Amino acid sequence: MQREVDLREISDGKLYGLNDMVKADCQDCTGCSDCCRGMGTSLVLDPLDVHTLCTGLGKTFEEFLSYAAELQVCDGLILPNLKMAGEEEACVFLNAQGRCSVHAVRPGFCRMFPLGRYYDGRSFQYFLQIHECKKENRSKIKVKKWLDRPDLAKYEQFVGDWHYFLKDVQELLERAHDDSLTRSASMYILKNFYLRPFCTDMDFYEQFAQRLEKGRAYFF
Ligand code: SF4
Ligand code: SF4
Repeated sequence: MQREVDLREISDGKLYGLNDMVKADCQDCTGCSDCCRGMGTSLVLDPLDVHTLCTGLGKTFEEFLSYAAELQVCDGLILPNLKMAGEEEACVFLNAQGRCSVHAVRPGFCRMFPLGRYYDGRSFQYFLQIHECKKENRSKIKVKKWLDRPDLAKYEQFVGDWHYFLKDVQELLERAHDDSLTRSASMYILKNFYLRPFCTDMDFYEQFAQRLEKGRAYFF
């Protein structure tokens, strides 16, 4: 989800790369699960999030959508987000002990929090959200250690490609003012990047790159 905000109001005013130290380490979130509750529709899931969660849970996207996620219109396109449920408006994966039950396969936003991404010039960097994490005395950690992902170069390429693909499609739709094109664009993206499963015995990023190339040829 794109937000137009003044970075100075929500961050410490710095931008970070993978090798920078940042005060993000909330020591395993002990005793706190605040950012797993009341997040509304803000935890938008990308194709890697859905692939990783569905594979880890042994579910199809439709099954996953039936209890853990919902579809929303996000900047003109229909995209899935993690569902907040019940009186507490908590993520369905938050267990009775207040811990994440899908920690190993949790989505990118959860993995990154309290960092956010700042996109500029077909690229992005990270920033520290200073009003979001309730934990005091967070310690410094290297961004790449905090993200805790294999293949970080491929991952960052994927994140940037996906963001700017959606942005380009959204701008195209905004210019076209055509409801049927908007509907078919959403259907194309849902079908090709979420509903159609990625093979688990092949590299996700290679499969994604092929689908993205076809998507770019379809739209532009
Ligand atoms: S997936 Fe896990 S970390 Fe993310 S909001 Fe749900 S319970 Fe919290
Ligand atoms: S608010 Fe901070 S400490 Fe609490 S669960 Fe989220 S990241 Fe962890």
